[in-house]
Amino acid sequence: MNKLSRFALFTSLVFVSSVANAEWVSSEQAIMGTRIHVELWQDDNIDGQAAINAVMAEMRRIDELMSPHKKTSALYRINQLASQQELRISSEMFKLIARSIEFSRLTEGAFDITYASVGHLYNYRAHKRPDRKTIKKQLGKIDFHNIVLDKNRQTIRFTHTGVFIDLGGIAKGYAVDNGIKILQQRGIKSAIVSAGGDSRILGNRHGRPWMMGIRNPRKHDGLLTRLPLWDTALSTSGDYERYFIEDGVRYHHIIDPKTGDSARKLRSVTIIGPDAITTDALSTSLFIMGIERGMALANQLPDIDAIMIDNKGRFFYSNGLQEPATTKP
Ligand code: ADP
Ligand code: MG
Repeated sequence: MNKLSRFALFTSLVFVSSVANAEWVSSEQAIMGTRIHVELWQDDNIDGQAAINAVMAEMRRIDELMSPHKKTSALYRINQLASQQELRISSEMFKLIARSIEFSRLTEGAFDITYASVGHLYNYRAHKRPDRKTIKKQLGKIDFHNIVLDKNRQTIRFTHTGVFIDLGGIAKGYAVDNGIKILQQRGIKSAIVSAGGDSRILGNRHGRPWMMGIRNPRKHDGLLTRLPLWDTALSTSGDYERYFIEDGVRYHHIIDPKTGDSARKLRSVTIIGPDAITTDALSTSLFIMGIERGMALANQLPDIDAIMIDNKGRFFYSNGLQEPATTKP
C-alpha cells in the first residue's frame, strides 16, 4: 500500500507494530487546516509517542500564532493594527516575515505574503471571489515593499491601509522543519513529518529510501510517480487543494500577485530541497512563475530540484533530475 493511500486510511489513528520496543510509530492529526503525519523509528530508549506528541504540540502552537482567522493569533493582530501603527512583534514572527520577503526578492515578487490583500476576499469553500473592479482597487496593496520591518526595534508596519499578510505559503514548511528539529533533539534518526503537501524526511528506512508519491492533479487519490528519497524535504503545490470552478474557470488558492487572480499556467509543482521552509515557499512561487522562469530559478539554485506539470498535463524536470547524458566510449 502506498503512502498516500495510507494517509487516507489511517486518519487520526495511532499505528504501533507488534514488536515491543524498537518499532515504527506513527500518528495523523488534523491541525492547521491540514493533515499532520508523523512517523518515526523508535529505538529501545526513545519514547516515540512522546516525540510525536511534542511535534503535534508544536504544530498547534504555530497554528495559534499564524492562523489568519483566529482572532487571538499574532498574525491577526498584525493585520488589524500594522497599517495604523508600528507594532513590536516576537522575534520568531519577525524572522519568518523577513524570510518571506527574502523569498519575494528571490522569486521576483511571485512569492508575496501581501497577496492576502486580495487573497482574503476569496472563500473557496463558499465559492466566493472578488469581482474585477474590487481586485483592481486592491491590487496595489499587494507588494512586499508595503511591509516595513525594523530589525533593531523588532517592529512591523504597513505603508497603507488595506494591506494584509498571510503566511499560508510558508508556515507549514516552517512547522515541518521545527518538527524534525524536535525529533532530532530526542535522538531520533529515521522519521518523516508531513503537513499536507509539505514533508521532510530524516534519515532513511533501514538503509532504504522513503517512497514519496506525487499526486495526479486531476485524479483524486491517483499517483503519477513515486520518488525514492532520504534526508530531504519535499513540497507540492497544486491547483486541486482548495478551489472551485465557475464557468469552466478554476479559482484556487495560489494567487499571482500581478493579477490578484489564481495562477493558471500549471497544475502542480513539486520541489525537492534541503529544508521544508524553502521547498514550501518555492513550490508556491514556481507555481506562479510558470515553466520557463520557474525552471530557470530551480536550475540556478544549488540543492533545489523541481518537477512541474503544466496545464496540458506535460511533465518538466529540473537538470538535477534529468538522466545523465550518455557519454560515448
Ligand atoms: P498548501 O499546502 O496549503 O496547498 P501551497 O504551498 O500550495 O499550500 O501554498 C498555497 C498557500 O500559499 C495559499 O493557501 C496561501 O495561503 C498562500 N499563497 C497564495 N498565493 C501566494 C503568493 N503569491 N505568495 C505567497 N503565498 C501565497
Ligand atoms: Mg508551498
